[in-house]
Amino acid sequence: MSGVTLGGGYSYLSNRHGLVTDNIVAFELVLPNGDITTVTAESDPELSWALKGGYNNFGIITHYVFKTHSLGDVWGGGLIYTQPNIDLVVSAVADFQASNTNVDATVVAVYTRVPAPVLSVTLFYNGSTRPPNIFDKFFDIPRAQEDVKTRTYTDLITAASAPFLLNDLRGAMHTVSLTDLTVGVIQSDSPSN
Ligand SMILES: Cc1cc2nc3c(=O)[nH]c(=O)nc-3n(C[C@H](O)[C@H](O)[C@H](O)COP(=O)(O)OP(=O)(O)OC[C@H]3O[C@@H](n4cnc5c(N)ncnc54)[C@H](O)[C@@H]3O)c2cc1C
Repeated sequence: MSGVTLGGGYSYLSNRHGLVTDNIVAFELVLPNGDITTVTAESDPELSWALKGGYNNFGIITHYVFKTHSLGDVWGGGLIYTQPNIDLVVSAVADFQASNTNVDATVVAVYTRVPAPVLSVTLFYNGSTRPPNIFDKFFDIPRAQEDVKTRTYTDLITAASAPFLLNDLRGAMHTVSLTDLTVGVIQSDSPSN
């Protein structure tokens, strides 16, 4: 919880509401000298800015005040694709990244190589029904499993986390920041490479 907040924090709602850290109103911070202080953008603009992405470099946070947002039912869930369709899905992901301008729509694609290469795609829409056109390409491609519906946000998060919990396996995650998610970039991490 603290790491995702102090490191940035991407969610399905990031395009709409910003990173997790963008939604902090106040931090209670234990400074390196042991003093306890409350930091807001008004009380200390520079420290407030630095804490948003600063992890534990400026002290230890013991309390947060978050901005909250109302949220009704959402539409989305997981699609699982296997070979020989993975290249088609890669193109659909790249096309979504290049062309989508709707801040309520998000696509998250995750390659899993164990026990067999699969591409799990989570579609998300911050609305209770499937929006026209945006996700059509993903439904044109044959898929092995589909669990996409109108649901609560909690239900979507729980379902989308399931692939990480398969088989009691340990996992390692590494990140790289990109400005464009092209087919070539995605394929460099594809199961066939
Ligand atoms: C399965 C999985 C899924 C993930 N999904 C997402 C995702 O959807 N979106 C996303 O943005 N990230 C995601 N991540 C990455 C995640 O945001 C980072 O791993 C995050 O740093 C985890 O925070 P933590 O508090 O659990 O970890 P920790 O390792 O405990 O903390 C990370 C850093 O924060 C510091 N820290 C922790 N608590 C405090 C505190 N109270 N005060 C000051 N510093 C503190 C630690 O010193 C450390 O430097 C995912 C990671 C995994 C393993």
